[in-house]
Amino acid sequence: MKLAAMTAGRLKAMLARKEASCADIMRSVLDEIEKREPSVRAFITVRDPADLLREAEKVDQRVLRGQPVGPLAGLPVAVKDNLCTQGLRTTCASKMLADFVPPYDATVVQRVKEADGIILGKTNMDEFAMGSTTENSAMQTTRNPWNTDYVPGGTSGGSAAAVAAHETILALGSDTGGSIRQPASYCGVVGLKPTYGRVSRYGLIAYASSLDQVGALARNVEDAALLFSVLAGHDPKDSTSLDVASPEGLLSDPPARLRIGVPKEFFGPGLDAEVQEAVEKAMSALASHGAQLVRISLPHTEYAIPIYYIIACAEASSNLARYDGCKYGYRTKSEGNVIDMMTASRTEGFGEEVKRRIILGTYVLSSGYHDAYYNKAAKARTLIRRDYDEAYRDCDVIMHPVAPTPAFKIGEKTSDPLAMYLVDIYSVIANLTGSPAMSVPCGMSRGGLPIGVQITGPALSEPLLFRVAYQLEGLT
Ligand code: GLN
Repeated sequence: MKLAAMTAGRLKAMLARKEASCADIMRSVLDEIEKREPSVRAFITVRDPADLLREAEKVDQRVLRGQPVGPLAGLPVAVKDNLCTQGLRTTCASKMLADFVPPYDATVVQRVKEADGIILGKTNMDEFAMGSTTENSAMQTTRNPWNTDYVPGGTSGGSAAAVAAHETILALGSDTGGSIRQPASYCGVVGLKPTYGRVSRYGLIAYASSLDQVGALARNVEDAALLFSVLAGHDPKDSTSLDVASPEGLLSDPPARLRIGVPKEFFGPGLDAEVQEAVEKAMSALASHGAQLVRISLPHTEYAIPIYYIIACAEASSNLARYDGCKYGYRTKSEGNVIDMMTASRTEGFGEEVKRRIILGTYVLSSGYHDAYYNKAAKARTLIRRDYDEAYRDCDVIMHPVAPTPAFKIGEKTSDPLAMYLVDIYSVIANLTGSPAMSVPCGMSRGGLPIGVQITGPALSEPLLFRVAYQLEGLT
């Protein structure tokens, strides 16, 4: 097996036994990038191979000298292009930031570097993380490595595809309404959206600040746990960062009497039969190992999509006000006064979907409509949270599909924004509640595309989610 196709866990063991070097791993990953990238197009930027190899060799030398190295020593990590990387272009897949080179690292990037991981490059995404397929990128369309006629999911589609295509070992993504979990499920990798506040958002280019969270994409549960342990922790630079103990025991056995909540609202019309079958099989596998399946109800689920799209667009419209052609980012070449300049810069710099969201968001926040839309959505969000609090009296975790169907064809939904928004039906809730949620591969469609199951739990229950996911992975 090629080094690039191995898990981080296996590579770490090989490094420890001196059966491979960090430079070998880097060379293998660079080979795969050369081979796969022309068809997959997961990366917007790959760093200079000579620099990458030099960095890998430096880690090797430290190991040779017997110096201590961090938990990600020498492992390539791909970073979604909405996370700031000092000196490395960070575009958000937008013309608006096509030439933006951040003067600082996002905290998560800094943490990866401190753990001796090597930042490989920046992955493609939907522009400003708005979309569900990575087709909204102003740069390129990423393709699903399992079948390049299909979407990889989104918005962290580049990160998920890069892990699946062996173009990296680990990847960082962001999840505002499913953007780590859904591409993870479409590409057959593990994706974790941590509890809101558990991983720093400092240096993550904001989309919807009350929903955004940075997380991990990896080849298996163990690798996701490794990366999450590096990312998690308090950050004084993020005012919403939680000061809690670091997660432990991520890979121990799940509790003997685990109660899995199965929400009836998530298994209704619109759910693809193959997805349903795969998810039910995963739950039965856990049940045959002692878990108890509990039927639960989350009655406000039908409002999740409208609530999410009102809140996300409202926050986006205010977050994206900063791109005005003055401070940084794209500025129009056309002449005129300052208002003309701002209007033209925004009209030319943003893509269609981003403009649609800014318009929707500005509308729901405008005077006269604020109460009817934004305030109502905020109240309804509380009802959804209460549904979950109520449900957790009867169960420890909740399981359901990540997306209603496996990956679909490129171009299939691009002309129908509503159909595209509905893809997020099972994933936006974890962002509205702030809870951790994970996507774990659980089967394949007859067409040969991966299917993922979602495991969600109360705030800060990541250790429990990992244990359940780890057991499930061993069973499927
Ligand atoms: N599909 C969601 C949206 O477009 C996903 C967003 C995300 O998680 N970044 O808003």
